[in-house]
Amino acid sequence: MHNRVFIVDDDRLTCNLLKTIVEPIFKQVEIFQHPLEFLTLALNSEDIILLDLMMPEMDGIEVIRHLAQQNCPASLMLISGYDSGVLHSAETLALSCGLNVTKTFTKPINTNVLTDLLTTLSDEQTKREFSGTHNDEFKQDTFEFIPTEKDLRDAIDNKQLVLYYQPQINMETQCIHGAEALIRWLHPEFGIVPPDKFIALAERTGLIEQVTEVVIQSAISQSVQWQNVDKAIRLSINISAQNINSLKLPEQLKMLVKQYELDPSLIVLELTESTLMDSEVTSLDILTRLRLKGFQLSIDDFGTGYSSLSQLHKIPFTELKIDQSFVANMKKEHESKAIVETCIMLAHKLNMEVVAEGVEDKQTWDLLLAEGCDIAQGYYIAKPMPVNEFDKWQCERELLMHSGVSKVKDSILHYY
Ligand code: C2E
Ligand code: CA
Ligand code: CA
Repeated sequence: MHNRVFIVDDDRLTCNLLKTIVEPIFKQVEIFQHPLEFLTLALNSEDIILLDLMMPEMDGIEVIRHLAQQNCPASLMLISGYDSGVLHSAETLALSCGLNVTKTFTKPINTNVLTDLLTTLSDEQTKREFSGTHNDEFKQDTFEFIPTEKDLRDAIDNKQLVLYYQPQINMETQCIHGAEALIRWLHPEFGIVPPDKFIALAERTGLIEQVTEVVIQSAISQSVQWQNVDKAIRLSINISAQNINSLKLPEQLKMLVKQYELDPSLIVLELTESTLMDSEVTSLDILTRLRLKGFQLSIDDFGTGYSSLSQLHKIPFTELKIDQSFVANMKKEHESKAIVETCIMLAHKLNMEVVAEGVEDKQTWDLLLAEGCDIAQGYYIAKPMPVNEFDKWQCERELLMHSGVSKVKDSILHYY
C-alpha cells in the first residue's frame, strides 16, 4: 500500500499550491473541491488528508463527523483561515471522535513545516515497508492484557503492586521538593502494567479501597525510611473518589503517621476535580479534617474538570497541579500558555503552591520559570523510578549540585 494524499479545499489556488508541495514527496495526489465527492472514497491508514475547515458546500466539521462515522484510519491535517482557537476546537473534536489528526495549519500555510511533515510521513512508510519484508520475526502480536477483578485481587494478595517515584523540583533553588508516588503492577507474565490499565477496574469493583491502602502503607513506610536518613521528602499520593467517600480515611491516615512518627505535612493527597464532583458534603468534611490533621491537599489535573473555581474556593487546597496537556502545549500554543500563566497567578493569589507536570524539555522549563511556577515534574527532570533508582538519582544529583553547578544545566536536570 502506498500513501495517497487527498487535498480537500474549495479554493482552487490553495489546492494547486498544496499539490506543488505534495507531489515531489508522494506520487498519488488528488484534489477535491467538493467534499461530498471525497466522502465516497474508501480510505486506509496509509492515506493522508489535507482538509480545509471552511467550505461552502459542507464545512470541515461535517466532513470530520462523516469520517468518524466511517472509522476513517487516515492521517488528517486540518487547515483553516480562521484563528487558531477554531482550529484547536476542530482538532479536539476530531481527536475525541477517534480520528488520527497529525497536524493543524492556519492559512497562509507554512510550506516548510508541511514539507518536513510530509517527508517524515514518507520516511516512516518506507521504514515500515522495509521492516515488513525483512523483519517479520519481530512483528509483535497485538495481544492486550485486560485484567479481571480476580487478577487484580490476586495481584494485591501477592504484593505485585509497587510504587514508582517521580521527583518534583523547586524551580528557583533546583533542589528536590518532593516526589509523586505512582502505582505499577509488576506482573510475572506481562511485566510492568501501568495504572491506566487497572485503576478504573479497581474503582468499578470496589477494590480501590485495598489498592489505596497498599499505596498509603508503602508511601508512608518509604517516607519514614527517607526521614530516618535525614531526607525529608514530601510524598504525593493519588486518591480516588471512593477513597474520600470513606469517612474513615482521615483517622486511618492519622493512625499510620502516628504509628510511624511521621510528620503529616510530608504527605500530600492529590485529588482530581472529577473526584470532588461526587458527594460534595462528605468530601468537604473529610478533606477539611485531613487538613486539620496536618496533611496537605493538592488539586490534580487542574483545568480539565468543570467546577475548578468553586472547588478552589471551598476546599482548603495547599497546592495546584496544572494539567499536563496545557504544560505540554504551552511552547507551541499561545492559548495553553495563557492558561498556564493564569493558573500560576490564580494559585499564588489563593496562597497555593503551583506544580507544573509533564515538563518534557528545557524550553518548557524556561517558560515556566519566567512565569514564576514553583515546582516542576516531568520527563525533562526524570521519569517515575523504582525506589533504588530514585535514591541513586538523588545522590548523583546532589553530588552535581555540590560540585558548584548551580544553574539549570541539562546534565543536572536531564536524566533518564
Ligand atoms: P496523574 O496523577 O496525572 O500522574 C501523572 C502521569 O503523567 C503519570 O502517569 C506519569 O508517569 C506521567 N508523566 C510524568 N511526567 C510526564 C511527562 O513529562 N510527560 C508525559 N507524557 N507523562 C508524564 P502514570 O504513572 O501512568 O499514571 C497515570 C494515572 O494513573 C495518574 O495520572 C493517576 O491518575 C493514576 N494513578 C497512578 N498511581 C495511582 C495510585 O496510586 N492511585 C490512584 N487512585 N491512581 C493512580
Ligand atoms: Ca497525580
Ligand atoms: Ca496529573
